Amino acid sequence: MPADSSVLSEASGLDALSSGGKAAMARALAQLERAPRAAATLGLLDEAWAGARAEVLGLTGPPGVGKSTLLRALIARFREAGLSVGVIAVDPSSRRSGGALLGDRVRLQSDPEDEGLFVRSMAARDRLGGLADLTAAAMVLMRAVYDRVVVETVGVGQSETEIAGVADSVVFCVQPGSGDSLQFMKAGIVEIPDIAVVTKADLGRPAERAVSDLRAAMALVPAGAGRWSVPVLPVSATERSGMDDLIEALAAHAAHLRGEGRLTARRAAQARGWLADGLRARFGSWGLERAGPLELAPGQSPFKRLAELAERLEAGVG
Ligand code: GDP
Repeated sequence: MPADSSVLSEASGLDALSSGGKAAMARALAQLERAPRAAATLGLLDEAWAGARAEVLGLTGPPGVGKSTLLRALIARFREAGLSVGVIAVDPSSRRSGGALLGDRVRLQSDPEDEGLFVRSMAARDRLGGLADLTAAAMVLMRAVYDRVVVETVGVGQSETEIAGVADSVVFCVQPGSGDSLQFMKAGIVEIPDIAVVTKADLGRPAERAVSDLRAAMALVPAGAGRWSVPVLPVSATERSGMDDLIEALAAHAAHLRGEGRLTARRAAQARGWLADGLRARFGSWGLERAGPLELAPGQSPFKRLAELAERLEAGVG
């Protein structure tokens, strides 16, 4: 076994992770980065996959829209309600160029003594060698430990669609007077959000206009029986107005997902996406073709399945 196997076994096990506080989560995330394919890592991910408990919220929008401010307000609300929170702030820059700004901004405002709040920043381009995206794996660990997980990403390029690959509920933030709502329709991201927030609602008229533009944009999405209708909510994080509506909308969306197996279906679709990404990263489109259908059996861990498929493909190559 590799030299670090003793370290791995020490940090492994979901029970140890759940009861070990922030230090245990930090150790588990370090293990994930250091030894993504080690048996202990996969074992922990499998356990965490099966032990999902958190509602996972994705928070996205362009730089400066007010995501960090809104995130702090949300965290405060969750903590007031006695909910534990894990945050993954995805930094669009790479680790090498200094990353970690988002997480630091959040951390500055959070009480280091608060065991119920864990914040971690990650560079968007950190991929695990063929496991799954580091963000997804980290989310799975946090989802098994905290009551709420929030993944914050800056909405540039692909990241809006990528957040739908990890979050149960996607909150898309739009800035008043920015033309964001027009972008919204053009870029085809109208399908991404489960909740649209117009930030800085305290700015008055421009905020009202953005709300009505967005509502018009959302009306273009065909409605259907059992389909979620995306609420467009004005929120001022600085004045803390609109926060009750946002909390209510999040609860309503979570309830919607719990109905008719939607949450299970959504998470299964995400897992298939991670599998495909993982295979493509390690074996290219050849591997993806050779792997065949990526359907997971109910409850089957995508991490274990990826390891099995990779083993088969490697054997085929050799
Ligand atoms: P991010 O880049 O999306 O994380 O945006 P920030 O949260 O850092 O906010 C960008 C700027 O908008 C900062 O100067 C904030 O003070 C300001 N801001 C954030 N929320 C609000 C709000 O509700 N009202 C007003 N007027 N300004 C806000």
